[in-house]
Amino acid sequence: MRPQCRVTEIVPAETHDAAQGVRIDIGSGRSEKIAADLVVDTSGRGALTLALLDAVDGQRPEVTEVGVDISYVSAVVEIPWIQTPPAVPAPGMQLIADFWISVL
Ligand SMILES: Cc1cc2nc3c(=O)[nH]c(=O)nc-3n(C[C@H](O)[C@H](O)[C@H](O)COP(=O)(O)OP(=O)(O)OC[C@H]3O[C@@H](n4cnc5c(N)ncnc54)[C@H](O)[C@@H]3O)c2cc1C
Repeated sequence: MRPQCRVTEIVPAETHDAAQGVRIDIGSGRSEKIAADLVVDTSGRGALTLALLDAVDGQRPEVTEVGVDISYVSAVVEIPWIQTPPAVPAPGMQLIADFWISVL
């Protein structure tokens, strides 16, 4: 585990058929290379892996996008209790301690 640093590149092997490690930003404009036999990209969107594939002229995987026409927003709502709170909250409302989170 290396806290407070950011991977900037998955470093390709010179043969362009594998990764040999990662390059990390360690602050103040400095970087460091960490060698590795196995690199797992868990950065969320795979941008590092796609950059690696581009760098080695590898083929990007086929992507299928499924659009969903929804959006939502959440807000913390304080409810001044007159009586005891209901046992079952209203749909879209979640009771956290003495406030509600509303998701619309
Ligand atoms: C607004 C919102 C609400 C959501 N609500 C739900 C929900 O209610 N239930 C549910 O199941 N899912 C929900 N999701 C989806 C869920 O958050 C994701 O599917 C899940 O977090 C993906 O996990 P992951 O580990 O692949 O990526 P992430 O959780 O994105 O983790 C990636 C990590 O990598 C780090 N990272 C990125 N780039 C680098 C780098 N270059 N160097 C070092 N570290 C890096 C990031 O800082 C992050 O910590 C929601 C997503 C969003 C955006």
